[in-house]
Amino acid sequence: MVIKMKCPKCDGLMMYEKFLDMGESSTYYFYGWRCITCGTIIDDTIIENRIHPAVVLKENRRRRLKKVS
Ligand SMILES: [Zn+2]
Repeated sequence: MVIKMKCPKCDGLMMYEKFLDMGESSTYYFYGWRCITCGTIIDDTIIENRIHPAVVLKENRRRRLKKVS
């Protein structure tokens, strides 16, 4: 898996992983992104809905921070 993604919260590196969700009667899994810095988890469903706005917001925020500092 070569896809890279940055955390929308802390801009850390996110790893694409398979998550297990253990329920009382069943166990299912999903694929998603986990930030290795702050632990934020984003699953594919969230990404499909927010990937584009999230990228735009992150880029704008980073540029502002660079100008301020
Ligand atoms: Zn993070």
